[in-house]
Amino acid sequence: MSTCACAAAAAAAAAANQPPHQHGPGCGHTAIRHNGHVDYLQEGHLHHPHEGRVQEHSIAVSDTNPEGCTPPCAGHEPGHVHGPGCGHEAVPHGNHIDFLVNGRLHHPHGDHCDDHGPVEVVQG
Ligand SMILES: [Zn+2]
Ligand SMILES: [Zn+2]
Ligand SMILES: [Zn+2]
Ligand SMILES: [Zn+2]
Ligand SMILES: [Zn+2]
Ligand SMILES: [Zn+2]
Repeated sequence: MSTCACAAAAAAAAAANQPPHQHGPGCGHTAIRHNGHVDYLQEGHLHHPHEGRVQEHSIAVSDTNPEGCTPPCAGHEPGHVHGPGCGHEAVPHGNHIDFLVNGRLHHPHGDHCDDHGPVEVVQG
């Protein structure tokens, strides 16, 4: 299993005798339906709670979620530049990072965004 900064934070919390964050309905993270299960977005990672541990998932490149330069997407003002703190959630897709805008993956590319297809956000 790969580790990430979140896993390190969880380990630090465990060392401090604090219970690690439990993803679940209402935990405060955006929930995404992925291959028939639910994952949670946290700091640009797709976390899948599994038997008390958190696995790292990524949206696979597919016909539904292609990568590459696709027709420009809408959903925010022209000229919006995605990045840390831009107000959109970062989502791992293939081996790059996209941003979640109105249920679609945006990939900043030059002076526009590529549209890398839809993801299903789980409400509630
Ligand atoms: Zn959570
Ligand atoms: Zn998953
Ligand atoms: Zn492009
Ligand atoms: Zn943005
Ligand atoms: Zn993408
Ligand atoms: Zn965009």
